[in-house]
Amino acid sequence: MKSNLTIVCTIIICALAMACNNSRNQEIMKADKKELAAIFPKGEKGLSETFTGNAYNIGLVDADSILTTAVGNVYFEPGARSNWHSHPAGQILIITDGVGYHQIEGRPVEIIKKGSVVKCPPNVRHWHGASEDVGLQQLYIVPNTEKGIVNWDEAVPDEVYKSVK
Ligand code: MN
Repeated sequence: MKSNLTIVCTIIICALAMACNNSRNQEIMKADKKELAAIFPKGEKGLSETFTGNAYNIGLVDADSILTTAVGNVYFEPGARSNWHSHPAGQILIITDGVGYHQIEGRPVEIIKKGSVVKCPPNVRHWHGASEDVGLQQLYIVPNTEKGIVNWDEAVPDEVYKSVK
C-alpha cells in the first residue's frame, strides 16, 4: 500500500513538473516575440545590394596589423537576411537575442536563437538572418582579415527563405 502511495505521489509530482515546464516554454515563446534586447548601438542600415529587408551593422573592433580580427553586431528586423556570401577566412556568429536562420549551401536551414554559436568555414557560401516573426541580434567575428572579409553574392529569394519549417 505504502509503495502504491509513493508511486501515485511520484506521478502527481511528475505531472506538476511537466505542467510547470510547459508554461515556462510558453513564457520563453512569448519573450521571443517581444522587442529584442540591444547590447550595442544599432549602427547603419545595410545596403539593399547585400541585404533583403532591414539589417543594421555596427563595427565594434576594427582589425589592425596585430589583431587581424574584426568584430561587430548586426540587428536583423523580422524577415531581414543577408545575401548569399562567403568569408575567405571564415566567420563565427554569436546570437545574443531573438530567433533566426543560418544556411550553408547544400545543407538544410538551421534555426539559430539567443545563445547559439555558429562556425562558418572559410570560402563556404551561406546566408544568415532573422526569422519571419522575430528579429535577431548577431555578433560576428571575422578572423585573419588579411585574407579578406566577405565576398557577396545574390539575394536569398523568398522561396528559399520561406522554405524553413
Ligand atoms: Mn556570414
